[in-house]
Amino acid sequence: MTECKRCGGETREGIAFVTMNLPAIGSTGGGIFSMHGMNIPGVENLGEETTRTANLKWREKTGKEKGWIIKTEEEKTFNIKGRRCLECGFIDFYVAE
Ligand SMILES: [Zn+2]
Repeated sequence: MTECKRCGGETREGIAFVTMNLPAIGSTGGGIFSMHGMNIPGVENLGEETTRTANLKWREKTGKEKGWIIKTEEEKTFNIKGRRCLECGFIDFYVAE
């Protein structure tokens, strides 16, 4: 078990990500709520917005050059993980290769 650096409490592992609310593509409106004549304004679009998640990444230049015709700086990309303290909420982030 990894202890919290701040209070020494128990921590739990998780991953960092972002969410985006995107309106559904090609929505005709109405949907199931327009059946049976139940067309409630403002309600018919419920659930048609989709929530997409994307993992947070970390990118860094390694300082090395790759390629022998066109030199480009080598980059490394990692997923960001973290441990959240169950006691105080402190999050300790790190990358996972
Ligand atoms: Zn803590």
